[in-house]
Amino acid sequence: MGHDGHSAKNRPLDELTITIVHDNYPCVELLKTAWGFSAYVVGGERRILFDTGSDGALLLENMAKLQIDPASIDVVVLSHVHGDHAGGLAGLLKANPRVCIYLPASFPAGVWDLVRGYGAAVAEVGEPQQICPNVYTTGVLGRRIKEQAMIVRTGRGLVILTGCAHPGVGKIVNEIRRQHPGDIALVMGGFHLEWAMSRKVRKIIAGFRERGVRCVAPTHCSGEKARERFREAYGQQFIEVGVGKTVTLADLA
Ligand SMILES: [Zn+2]
Ligand SMILES: [Zn+2]
Repeated sequence: MGHDGHSAKNRPLDELTITIVHDNYPCVELLKTAWGFSAYVVGGERRILFDTGSDGALLLENMAKLQIDPASIDVVVLSHVHGDHAGGLAGLLKANPRVCIYLPASFPAGVWDLVRGYGAAVAEVGEPQQICPNVYTTGVLGRRIKEQAMIVRTGRGLVILTGCAHPGVGKIVNEIRRQHPGDIALVMGGFHLEWAMSRKVRKIIAGFRERGVRCVAPTHCSGEKARERFREAYGQQFIEVGVGKTVTLADLA
């Protein structure tokens, strides 16, 4: 730290743009919805696609409409093996095999073979690790369904992306709180509360508050009722998202 010339390297990102390119929630006209989640993350040293949705053709079509070139992607992070997050991978690899895929070690051999078949690079994920400066994976969490979440360190605080949050979105936030210092500016993605009782949702919201989560953008498998609870609790800090929506640091007041 200090003004020794190394400090610039350690500085959190002062720019970040997250665009949802695959989601079951609509948002921007002309873009197609389908069950699943995928977000294009720009601002760090590498351009990252977090998850690939369920449908590769739809993913690429949406990206084209958003003028996002699949060839610009350097890294693909797959949160977990379910088809609504990893289903678009083959389509994406066909469009751009020159990516590095952050793959939980728990993924089945078929996916590893697919990735290697396209000649893509693989970074096996077990423990928490850095993807590039200011961008990290939580490492593989959860017992039954293994899943990783992604963390981006920004000048506005930590930005967290979840796929389905099968290990529990509250637990993921707790784990990140343990791994990284600093405020949590945003938790975005699938919160997996579709079938959760309202008491559980209230408890999770209370936990978010306690951990200082400033803004929320629940989508995909978060559940309509849970989304409403978050909207009520967070007011202006609830960010309504769906396919095509872009969130930048300016949105994280
Ligand atoms: Zn899932
Ligand atoms: Zn899902």
